[in-house]
Amino acid sequence: MGKKIKKAYSVKLNRIVSLDDVNTKNREELELKCPYEGCRTSITYTEEHIRTYGEKSVIIPAYFRLISENSSPHSADCIYSTIGELFSIAKKSMGMLESIEDNLFEFRLQVISEHRQNKKNAKTSYIQEPSVQNVPINSKIIESGTKSAYLSTIKKILELKSKMEEDNQLEKALVLKNGAKTINWNNFYFDKHDYYECYSLLENGAEHPICIEGIIKKINFFPEYGSRRVSIELYRLSNRKINGKTLVPSVFINFHGNNLYKKIREISNGGTPIKVAVYSDNINYYSKGFYLNINPNVYNEKQMHFWN
Ligand SMILES: [Zn+2]
Repeated sequence: MGKKIKKAYSVKLNRIVSLDDVNTKNREELELKCPYEGCRTSITYTEEHIRTYGEKSVIIPAYFRLISENSSPHSADCIYSTIGELFSIAKKSMGMLESIEDNLFEFRLQVISEHRQNKKNAKTSYIQEPSVQNVPINSKIIESGTKSAYLSTIKKILELKSKMEEDNQLEKALVLKNGAKTINWNNFYFDKHDYYECYSLLENGAEHPICIEGIIKKINFFPEYGSRRVSIELYRLSNRKINGKTLVPSVFINFHGNNLYKKIREISNGGTPIKVAVYSDNINYYSKGFYLNINPNVYNEKQMHFWN
């Protein structure tokens, strides 16, 4: 348990050892400790093995790890304590993220089903241009106040994402579940260069919630609409040349309801934020000319996060 480590301190040798120095035979006598000098908790050696996640088999390279997260954890300041942090996210996530066994976390996505659209409706009534002046007619207008089904998801997702950037083993330690289906992280989280993949996924009928992150180009307020809608346009950084034709994935996020309208006004009073990430299972998509339009709908502030 704990973050996988590539080095260890051997009490016997009184020096740092690498994975190549250790095997299942000498691991006991070397007396392995955390390589971080301020920590030095006991760690052990795990040899390379194959692990199966659903239908996927992954070779797990050898690593050092904690003997016990409970009785001998890393010190609080130890640089190797990331999974400890993941555990603490799991504890705070109200059951959304759960440790199901050593180093394997399950992340459930079925929490935002309240505003799901029927798949057959998702591709109807489209606008002519990728313009914020037009809205797909089937955009739902739902007032806030009935959204208790949402957990504080987007922040937890962003915490997870940043942990994954620190520790590339974590992606393998996470299982995303939507009902009984297992979803890969890269079919769930789409950053600014991934919108083409996002569009392809939607076009192929994906039915799970997804996250979209991007750099804000423009925030448009529509006070004249009864819904008090806000639309945010993201920079288009995912162009793809396919058969000599440049396709331009374009994301406009639609925020619905008074609360979000006020909140986003408030946020942008101090200047337009640079980045936004949203979590949605209600996404309109359609192509027009070279444009591949993606319009996630957001109804609750827990589905959105802004930062600079
Ligand atoms: Zn440590």
